[in-house]
Amino acid sequence: MFLVHWGKVSDCPPSPSDPLLPGLYVVATPIGNLGDITLRAVDILSRCDGVACEDTRVTGKLLKHLGISKPLWRYDDHSEHRDRTRLVASMRDRAVALVSDAGTPLISDPGFRLINDCRAEGIPVTSLPGACAAIVGMTLSGLPNDRFLFTGFLPAKDKARREALEELAGIDATLIFYETGPRLLKSLAAIGAALPDREIAVARELTKLHEECRRGLSHGLAAYYEAHPPKGEIVLMIGPPGETLASADDADALLREALATMKTSQAAAAVSKATGLDRKALYARAMDLKAE
Ligand code: SAM
Repeated sequence: MFLVHWGKVSDCPPSPSDPLLPGLYVVATPIGNLGDITLRAVDILSRCDGVACEDTRVTGKLLKHLGISKPLWRYDDHSEHRDRTRLVASMRDRAVALVSDAGTPLISDPGFRLINDCRAEGIPVTSLPGACAAIVGMTLSGLPNDRFLFTGFLPAKDKARREALEELAGIDATLIFYETGPRLLKSLAAIGAALPDREIAVARELTKLHEECRRGLSHGLAAYYEAHPPKGEIVLMIGPPGETLASADDADALLREALATMKTSQAAAAVSKATGLDRKALYARAMDLKAE
């Protein structure tokens, strides 16, 4: 095993009692499956002097699961400037790990101000790679990934959401957003209006028991999630312009044609095979078309 500390490679693992060099260690933690923590993350958490975290209960549970006991300090970017200054100053002679509730700190999570202040004060900072929902979602979706843009959560208000999507519509890249179950339908409707005929992927409960990733056009996915209200955490992705496998009208026309001679499930399967669109979303759309 090779462990790298501040650029030095050592081939013998340090013991949990060996102290770490002072500074800040950004540590990614699992986004669901507790197995998704790296050997290096466990090593740093075992040997640091304390952990700065979003929620001491959440991080306390993770450390307990790992058999680690450390002082926990609550941190968010809105913490008093005085508290952050004190935390940064303490890193002159303490090794502090920064974690968020789940995934990679700073990715739609606190930490930006802390890193910035550490760098300004000449405190060494290192970042350990690990789980990040945006990357897991993108790699699972099968959408083009040579160029992608992650923009965090879409605004909650209708007008701001529409404007954000309109601003992103011309970008030649897969767009990645974080999303919540209660807001998914509104976002799908807004995407359908601002970026019609773009292929969408909804990745839910990544790394967990009920992990799923559905692809389709906005109306098909909306029909599916109206019938199956989405639970849990979501990464929402929009394929780049020009990558759509079939337009909404194409899919409807193909479904109508197929429904004339086939059962609903057969029609959905046939159109899915022809277009690459999600079979379950097509099935939901076919049910709507039959009801019209
Ligand atoms: N820092 C985290 C990361 O590296 O992914 C993200 C934190 S952000 C506050 C939380 C959002 O990430 C959730 O609302 C959801 O959109 C996404 N997310 C986190 N875990 C997820 C999972 N297991 N499956 C799908 N999305 C997830």
